[in-house]
Amino acid sequence: MKIILLGAPGAGKGTQATRISEKYGITHISTGDIFRANIKQGTEIGKLAKSYIDAGKLVPDSVTCEIVKNRLAEDDVKDGYLLDGFPRSLYQAEELSKFADIDLCLNFEVDTDLLMDRICGRRVCSCGESYHISTLNGATTCAKCGKQLYRRDDDNPETVKARLDTYNVMTAPLIAYYSAQNKLASVKCGNGTPEEVFKAVCEILDKYGK
Ligand code: ADP
Ligand code: ZN
Repeated sequence: MKIILLGAPGAGKGTQATRISEKYGITHISTGDIFRANIKQGTEIGKLAKSYIDAGKLVPDSVTCEIVKNRLAEDDVKDGYLLDGFPRSLYQAEELSKFADIDLCLNFEVDTDLLMDRICGRRVCSCGESYHISTLNGATTCAKCGKQLYRRDDDNPETVKARLDTYNVMTAPLIAYYSAQNKLASVKCGNGTPEEVFKAVCEILDKYGK
């Protein structure tokens, strides 16, 4: 199955992607992770992406679309994938439709007033897990793999505000776009725990079949 995960920053796309990928064996592709890996390795793409990411803006389409196109051409995703963080604009969605046939867009609906606190209190692990300081009880390492947790550079109030604006202006129109194609399934997250949200996700995915 070829699935897009849609939702505001902090809606929990990454957390759910990890779970979906484990349970259904679908490869998780996150453009944010790809950019962060490039920044870490100091590549040209990383150098270019960093200034946009730090400002909460979209990395230019010429770079982003090319990366996704190449990634989707690889062998391991022939049978399906979870696209997390792409498309993020109507332009990107149109580009994607030229090289991919999407089955489903899972839209994570979450109260926007929760997002700022969620993202600013987020601590992440390089294994893909993420946590919130309110439930870590002072722990500084990952419960899953034991590595040191850290705060993403762009998880600060100023950048988060810009990311939320970017989402509202550029990305939110995709809800209507995929709804018009009868590909949208919305998950009402409210302030549900990751487990509760995952249950709702599984109900949708089981209904659609793998
Ligand atoms: P989140 O969804 O929590 O904001 P991501 O890890 O998906 O975080 O993305 C982090 C940043 O990477 C974005 O704010 C943006 O600058 C850049 N980015 C990720 N995906 C895209 C994309 N499809 N197009 C342009 N920029 C992107
Ligand atoms: Zn970990």
